Amino acid sequence: WLQIILAFPEEEEALLSEEDALSARPVQIVVAHEDDHAFELDEAALERILLQEHVRNLNVVVVSVAGAFRKGKSFLLDFMLRFMYNQTSCSWLGGHEEPLTGFTWRGGCERETTGILAWSEVFVVDKPDGSKVAVLLIDTQGAFDSQSTIKDCATLFALSTMTSSVQLFTEYGRLALEEIYEKPFQTLMFLIRDWSYPYEHSYGLEGGKSFLEKRLQVKQNQHEELQNVRKHIHSCFSNIGCFLLPHPGLKVATNPNFDGRLTDIDDDFKTELVNLVPILLSPENLVEKEIGGSKVTCRDLVQYFKAYMKIYQG
Ligand code: GDP
Ligand code: MG
Repeated sequence: WLQIILAFPEEEEALLSEEDALSARPVQIVVAHEDDHAFELDEAALERILLQEHVRNLNVVVVSVAGAFRKGKSFLLDFMLRFMYNQTSCSWLGGHEEPLTGFTWRGGCERETTGILAWSEVFVVDKPDGSKVAVLLIDTQGAFDSQSTIKDCATLFALSTMTSSVQLFTEYGRLALEEIYEKPFQTLMFLIRDWSYPYEHSYGLEGGKSFLEKRLQVKQNQHEELQNVRKHIHSCFSNIGCFLLPHPGLKVATNPNFDGRLTDIDDDFKTELVNLVPILLSPENLVEKEIGGSKVTCRDLVQYFKAYMKIYQG
């Protein structure tokens, strides 16, 4: 079946941009140049997303996922997308054989884009108090992986933290508190992957809380710098949470043909995923981004991004 579309040059542009607007996808808004360790903001791309008429004056909730390379950030974000697209349905997790799509993710150890990606569709959500908020999902690539220098990591993480109201931090079974760079924001959620000691701290939010309390204790014999990070982290975020996720199963972790379908994912993992995502994204839990105590609209966020980029380029 061959479908041919005929168009004249002046129509072609309209055709393309219409298609552009219809198909939601990840858009790179910050590009990291590895050779000279410079960062570049794609202002036009950012503006296309945030200055859309139906969202630009709404208060924004930015949800960003950071963490080392290949920690399942995009994988998780794709489930968050499913939730955003199917909020009203109790089966938002999707069909059993349905491949996972959205932010690109894949196995293997080759890295993909470095920088910050935003989902091109900004979701409009009605909060229980009657207000409407805009939700922007952000994927941070390449922070803390082996090829990035400390400065790059700090910059990327700081950028995504500064601009996000809910920061998710993914780590496998340990907390890399040394690597956290600080600025005052709303919620920081540590997401510990492959948690394998549920008998010590149970999966989910409760276990995460007790685990985190233990890990964030400031100990006498700790390196001073680490002590400071631990102290500081509390003064930087109004809410700090931690969620322990079980291992998703061998197919997810090792099968190169795994395409994200639910049948290949362990039940324990799915159970916890169903608990986790609404904690982050259900309307009553959405935290609007605040800077200096005031809420920020999508339009403001564009300006903040530009300003922050200037700071970090210096
Ligand atoms: P990203 O680089 O952080 O965006 O990681 P991806 O989302 O692309 O996932 C990298 C690989 O890790 C993929 O093969 C996923 O199937 C796998 N993966 C996703 N979540 C988990 C997890 O919780 N535990 C383990 N062990 N692997 C995961
Ligand atoms: Mg990714």
